[in-house]
Amino acid sequence: MTALPLPAIHASHGGCWLRDAIGVTRGLGKGEAIMAAADTPLLMLNAPLVATRLGYPDLSGLDLLELYAFVHPARFVVPTPKGLATALGLAEPAGDDEVPALLQAAAAALLDTCESPDWPEREGAWSVLQSLVRMRWPWAGPLSARIAQPDRAERWLFSKLPEWEEAPERPQPAQVTLDEQAVLDRLAALTGDSAEQRPSQRAYAAETAHAFEPRRREAAPHVLLTQAGTGIGKTLGYLAPASVWAQQSGGTVWVSTFTKALQRQLRRESRRAWPMHRRDGSPPVVVRKGRENYLCLLNLEDALQGGFGGRAAILAQLVARWATYTQDGDMIGGDLPGWLGTLFRQRGITSLTDRRGECVYAGCPHYRKCFIERAARNSAQADLVIANHALVMVNAARGRDHAARPTRLIFDEGHHVFEAADSTFAAALTGAETIELKRWVLGPERGSKGRRRGLSARLADISSYDEQGAKAIAAAAHAAEALPSDGWLQRLSENVPVGPLEELFAGVRATVYARDESGGQEAGYGLETEAAQLEGPFIEQAQAAEAALAELRQPLMRLGLRLEALLEEPPDWLDGPGRARIEGARHSLAWRIDLLSAWEALLHRLGGPADPEFVDWLAVERGDAREFDIGLHRRWLDPMKPFARTVLEPSHGVMLTSATLKDGHGASGDDWNAAIARSGTPHIGIAPRLSAFESPFDYGAQAEVLIVTDVPKGDIPALAAAYGRLIEATGGGVLGLFTAIRRLRAVYGRIADRLARGGLPLFAQHVDPIDTGTLVDIFRDDPRASLLGTDALRDGVDVPGHSLRLVVMEQVPWPKPSILHRARRLAGGGSAHDDRIIRARLAQAFGRLIRSREDHGHFVVLSSAFPSRLLSAFPPGTPVRRLTLDEALQRVASGVSPAPVTTDTSSSNPA
Ligand code: SF4
Repeated sequence: MTALPLPAIHASHGGCWLRDAIGVTRGLGKGEAIMAAADTPLLMLNAPLVATRLGYPDLSGLDLLELYAFVHPARFVVPTPKGLATALGLAEPAGDDEVPALLQAAAAALLDTCESPDWPEREGAWSVLQSLVRMRWPWAGPLSARIAQPDRAERWLFSKLPEWEEAPERPQPAQVTLDEQAVLDRLAALTGDSAEQRPSQRAYAAETAHAFEPRRREAAPHVLLTQAGTGIGKTLGYLAPASVWAQQSGGTVWVSTFTKALQRQLRRESRRAWPMHRRDGSPPVVVRKGRENYLCLLNLEDALQGGFGGRAAILAQLVARWATYTQDGDMIGGDLPGWLGTLFRQRGITSLTDRRGECVYAGCPHYRKCFIERAARNSAQADLVIANHALVMVNAARGRDHAARPTRLIFDEGHHVFEAADSTFAAALTGAETIELKRWVLGPERGSKGRRRGLSARLADISSYDEQGAKAIAAAAHAAEALPSDGWLQRLSENVPVGPLEELFAGVRATVYARDESGGQEAGYGLETEAAQLEGPFIEQAQAAEAALAELRQPLMRLGLRLEALLEEPPDWLDGPGRARIEGARHSLAWRIDLLSAWEALLHRLGGPADPEFVDWLAVERGDAREFDIGLHRRWLDPMKPFARTVLEPSHGVMLTSATLKDGHGASGDDWNAAIARSGTPHIGIAPRLSAFESPFDYGAQAEVLIVTDVPKGDIPALAAAYGRLIEATGGGVLGLFTAIRRLRAVYGRIADRLARGGLPLFAQHVDPIDTGTLVDIFRDDPRASLLGTDALRDGVDVPGHSLRLVVMEQVPWPKPSILHRARRLAGGGSAHDDRIIRARLAQAFGRLIRSREDHGHFVVLSSAFPSRLLSAFPPGTPVRRLTLDEALQRVASGVSPAPVTTDTSSSNPA
């Protein structure tokens, strides 16, 4: 293999390097680099990132990542020079200046692969390439010279994918009581003979078995709240009883997670308990996500046949390559590289999924190959379904198939159940939501490409052959005209709204700007005000909007009834696919009718007394001072109330487990009060079974909490300097957590270049054009890298080992003083409520640091006033010191060394 004779460019915060076609590398300035890229197509890695580094958004070239996605679809690669080198078996570049040579070698290696007879992803490549040639994809030329036309015509993707099989319904599970010894034996088998004996893991597994006991009373599930400190080995701890129960009862256990990282871990660990396939070929373990995560083949076909233009059309071809090789068609967090969306446009990815519920079910030509339908069928037959909190709740609240609802449920990352319930059971009547509904009824507005069509096209047979149905569809279409249309935000900003809903949103906007006192106006953040003391004209606008929504709901209800009647007494013209189409439409109709009812209820209450169950407010959502949505919001004061009714009550056994379920690590029974309240059990009169298992880690020897007292609050230069020095002191491996994006960006902007020049790459959420999952992959892969981010990184990061050795929090993570927070604070005991939130956040952030017995590290909070009452957030025995930044730098630089804590300013967390 030789390097490809094409010039290559690399740009980092440390500078730019260009290597020409004959192999000479030189450093150059940004201006010259931009000129060079405009002159001739250059090899580069991750064009959007290079464009950001050069400050030139229109940059294009021969992106190695696009080539990789074509040659190795559905294969993982960390999108950095080091990651690419590892994936292709090439030598890692020693410094930035060696990267262009690596890019040339990598391009050659990938192109050579296409000529190899052993290329595993050859099938389909030639056909897709022919389309890419027509689209003038920059790589089409070099690839055409390497990929030979196959002897036999390749099968088109849609005929190649396997069909799912219909299977008989499973009988209800047998009632069994698990034998403790059987559970412990299974645990021993799963952990392996050589694994060290962990008494707490055994106790945890035995405790979990209680969730599977036969239920004694209707609507009274066994509920377990089980805290398991990091390192207990809780995944195998609950998979052991779950697998024994599934085997003995013939039933399905659902494990629900909040983060994708845990979902991946579960998929891996479940292999120890179950094979990939049963004897009949069906999978015993299925990962199940919301339908908006999966590729919709009908949307892809549409995109391939002209629905997408320009760069999006190239993306569709690369997705078609991936669709042949994907494990399960999951586009968001599955085996489609997370970075593919940012190379093109994330919107391109989402419009290939079934985000708006436009599926035509059996009326779709790809129904029997559909990834979503396959996942749904597989999960009905599975022993273990790995899902996420949102899906479990949405399924319970509006699932199509009641029989397939989970009855034995384990919520891992159980501390997030409240948050997931909060968004699942929320109502938002906003411009963006109403425009979605309008498109669902009418189809997209003029000028849009593609197959997306409205209700009347999706139910074409009803429109043509059934008079009552046709009338209802026409009435719904007429009523939907009252909803906002394209350009509504612009009209609102010019105060020329059209129609009752736009008028309402104009009223919301005017009220919010008049009343907001959050200080967000200058900062460019979102604005909000409570839905109280509203003026007469606004109430009139709300009434007019409510009437318009009712006008739409009524024909939709008539249509729903008509569809039911047609299914009961099918007319001659209704064939099998037509029937299935009606079944699907009925479900999505019911969902829209519920949505409209919730919106009407929200508007209806505006003129009258407040409902104490709910918190309502008006909001203008903004990012970087740009408005992107406007409307009214409603949340349950306690979202665990609907959760208890829809999820807990129908279940037989539910466990909520997490390393941070209780409030702090105190010995008092009070620690459980908040966890019990947040489990929803009081709403259905159940006392949950409580247990806690302490982490086996020696926090006193492995970690140290440093509270830095001399970085003044609000002083951005001082904050940035502190971050920069801490990163230099550890030589990277820092996870920096922020509570405000603005401060994150300011700090990043001040230190990234300097650190890069010292060989310490810095990445940041909300700055780098890279999705969060990929940022964490990059961070994990490079021990000299550091990563800055906000909430999602606080507990979505699982980086054991040397790559993460210091967590820095910019300040005490106070909750955002929103209207919703104010209401819950009032109901939840005032400052005690805030303290619980902060302790939970600190505990989650601290939990990132020590992931295994070998991990060591520091946890730094830059806060001059850190209240002692928050210290119980940290595990017992963790040394805590209050010190200056200089002292902290010394400790961080020398690593964690357990020493007796003697000074006045220091303490060991006694709890
Ligand atoms: S069945 Fe529905 S989701 Fe599946 S490919 Fe067809 S339209 Fe898309």
